[in-house]
Amino acid sequence: MSPVTYELKDNVGIITIDNAPVNALSHAVRAGLVDAMNQAQGDDSKAILIQCAGRTFIAGADISEFGKPSQDPILPEVLDTIEQSSKPVIAALHGTALGGGFETALASHYRIALKNAKVGLPEVNLGLIPGAGGTQRTPRLAGIKAALDLVLSGTPISASQAQEVGLIDHIVEDDDLAKGSFAYAQQLIKQEAPVRKTSEIAIDTARFEVGIFDEYRKTYAKKLRNQDAPQKIIDCVEAATKVTFEEGMKQEREAFIACRSSEQSASLRHIFFAERQAAKVNDLPRDIAARDIQNVAVIGAGLMGGGIAMNFANANIPVKVLEISAEALEKGMATIAKTYQGMVKKGRITPEQADQRISLITATTDYDDLKDSDLVIEAVFESIDVKKSVFTKLDEVCKEGAILATNTSYLDINEIAGFTKRPGDVVGLHFFSPAHIMKLLEIVRGEHTSHDVLASVMKLARTIKKVPVVARVCYGFIGNRMLRQYQREVQMCLIEGASPEQIDKVMMDWGMAMGPLMVADLAGLDISYKARQALTPEQKGNPKSYRIPDVLYEMGRIGQKSGSGYYIYDPETKARTADPSVLDIIEREAQSFGVTRKPMSDEEVLNRLSLALINEGFKILEEGVAQQAGDIDVVYCFGYGFPKYRGGPMFVAQTRGLTKVYEDICAYRQTHGDEYWTPSALLEKLVTEGLSLDEWEKGQHNG
Ligand code: NAD
Repeated sequence: MSPVTYELKDNVGIITIDNAPVNALSHAVRAGLVDAMNQAQGDDSKAILIQCAGRTFIAGADISEFGKPSQDPILPEVLDTIEQSSKPVIAALHGTALGGGFETALASHYRIALKNAKVGLPEVNLGLIPGAGGTQRTPRLAGIKAALDLVLSGTPISASQAQEVGLIDHIVEDDDLAKGSFAYAQQLIKQEAPVRKTSEIAIDTARFEVGIFDEYRKTYAKKLRNQDAPQKIIDCVEAATKVTFEEGMKQEREAFIACRSSEQSASLRHIFFAERQAAKVNDLPRDIAARDIQNVAVIGAGLMGGGIAMNFANANIPVKVLEISAEALEKGMATIAKTYQGMVKKGRITPEQADQRISLITATTDYDDLKDSDLVIEAVFESIDVKKSVFTKLDEVCKEGAILATNTSYLDINEIAGFTKRPGDVVGLHFFSPAHIMKLLEIVRGEHTSHDVLASVMKLARTIKKVPVVARVCYGFIGNRMLRQYQREVQMCLIEGASPEQIDKVMMDWGMAMGPLMVADLAGLDISYKARQALTPEQKGNPKSYRIPDVLYEMGRIGQKSGSGYYIYDPETKARTADPSVLDIIEREAQSFGVTRKPMSDEEVLNRLSLALINEGFKILEEGVAQQAGDIDVVYCFGYGFPKYRGGPMFVAQTRGLTKVYEDICAYRQTHGDEYWTPSALLEKLVTEGLSLDEWEKGQHNG
C-alpha cells in the first residue's frame, strides 16, 4: 500500500503522507505524491492540502536510501509537479519539517503550521546542500540574509520565526492542525486565492547589500573551515539573485550531486551515524531499567567539578557540591557564579536563568549531606590516595543504590571500585574541559559496573545533552590514551627538525580546531608537568617525548598564563607570536639526544601525527576498550577538536586505505624502530586477510 493517500473532502483535496516514524521522503512517498497530485488535478477539488500522519511533517530524506543510486521521480521533479498545480497547494506543518520536507513546503503555494512546529534545512550538517530548491526558493520568500542564515546554520527555527521572515503564512493557534488547515483551505477557496508559485517571486535586489555574499563566504571560511558545502550554498543563493529560477535550480542540483559524492559528506554522515551508534551499549539487555537520578552531588569544586555541577543545574537537576574546606568551596562557587555571569553577558542566558541555575547548586563540606544523592561524581585531585579517601567515605554515607562515579582521567577505575563494598555501583564519568561546554562524555565501565548503572548513566548523558561513548578501563581510556601517542609524536617531530609553528599550522590547515602546541600553552605546561611527575618511568616513555616541555616548565614558561611557552603572548591582547629562542632550546635538547635536526616536510608531520593516532586507535579496538571503530571517531571529533568533515581517525584510516596505513606504519618502524611504531595486531590482521573494518566488526558481532 502506498504511504500516500488522497481523498476529496468537500472541495478540498487532501493528500496524507503516512510513512512512520518521521514521514521520510522515500521513493514510495515521492511516487505517491506525484500520483496524488495528478489525481487532484483531475477532480472537483478547488485547493489541495498536503499533510502528514503521526508525530511530524516530512522530517527529511530517507537515510536508508543514502549512498544508493537515486530512483525517479527525484525530489526536484516531485516538487515541480506540486508547484505547477493549477489549484492552490497548502502544506500543513507539524513537528519538524526538515530538509526535503521543508523544501516540499516551500514548493507549495501556501504554508500553515502548528505553533510548536519547527522548520529547517539541516543539509549543511551532513556536508550537503539542499537539493530540491531550498537555496532557490528560501531567498525568494525570506530574503537573502534570512535564507543564508537558515541554510548555512543548519539549525531549525520555530514556526513564529519562520512566519516573521515570510516562510510561513499562517499559524494555527490551537493544536488541531487538521481542522485549522481545512478551514484555511476553504478560506483560500472562498477568496479565490491565486496559485502563488515561489519560483516566480522576484528577489528584491534593493533589500540586501552587494557585499553580503563575500561577507558570508569569509565568515563561513572561518566558522566551517575547509568545508565545501557552505561555500556552495552561498554560491547558489547568490545565483538566485542573478540567474533565472531554472538556471539556479540547475546550479543547485550540480552542487548537490558534487557534495553528495564528496569525502567530506561521507565523513560527516559517518560521524552522524557513529554518534547514534555510540549511544548504545552493545551487550546491555534490552529490558534493563535505569535507576532514577533526581539528586546529584559532585565532590571537588575545582576546574572540572564546577563545570560538571553546572551541567546538572543547566538541566534543572539539583546538585550539591562538596569541597574539602570552606575556602575551596567559596572559590569554586564564585567561579561557577562568574561563569554564569559571563553567559548572561554574552546573551546566552537571562539573568533570571542564571539565578535559577545557581539556586540549584548547594555548597557543603559535610558528607552527611550526600546521603540522599542518587549519583555522586568525584572530581578531586588525580591521586589514587585522595580518590581512596573519597570513595571510602562515599561508601559509608551514600544510600544503597546510589551511583558512585569518578571523573578520573587515567586512574584504574577497578581499583577505585575496590575501595567500596559496592563495585557494581561504580563507573567512570569522564567529562572534558570546560565540562559545561564540551559535548563528549566517556563512560568508563569497570570490571564490575552493573548493567543498570551503565543504562542509567547513558540515559543521564542524554538528559544533560552530552555525547556518550562507552570505554573499558585502560590507561587514559580511549581519548587520552590516543592523545598521549599524538603528543609523543609531536615531540619527536620537534626533536627531529619540525618547528612548533610548522606543526600547529599543518594540523590546523588539516582541520584540527587547534594546533597541539597551542593547546599545550593554553592548558598550561605546569599541569602536564605535574601530571608527568606522578608517572612511572615506563608510563612516561622515551625522554625525547617530554624533555622539551619539562625544560620550558623549568624556565617558568608555562604557557599563555605566564606569557610564554612554546610561543610568546602579548599580555594585553594574548596575541601569539613565534619565539626563536624556543627553537634554540629544541636544538639544544636534540643535540643532547645526539640528534641532528633536519627540515621536515609538512606531509611527514601530518602523516606521523595522524598515524600515531590511528595505530593507537586500532590497538584500542583490538583490546575491546572501544565497542566499535566509530566510537573512537566520536571521541576524537567531540572531545579533541578533530575535524568532523574528516570523520575521525579511524574513518581517515579507511579512506586512506588500511594497506597504505599499515605500510606507512611499517616504514616508520624501519626508520624509527619499534618502540612506538609496532603496527596494531588488528590492523595487520585486516590487511593480511584483506578485510575491511566493517567486515571485521560484523564478524565480531555475529561471532
Ligand atoms: P582541580 O585541582 O582544579 O580541582 C580539584 C578540586 O578537588 C580542588 O578544588 C580541591 O580542593 C578538591 N579536593 C581535593 N581533595 C578533596 C577531597 N578529599 N574532598 C573534596 N574535595 C577535594 O582539578 P581538576 O582539573 O578539576 O581535576 C579533577 C579530576 O578531574 C581529576 O581526576 C582529573 O584527572 C580529572 N579531569 C581533569 C580534566 C582537566 O582538563 N583538568 C579533564 C578531565 C578529567
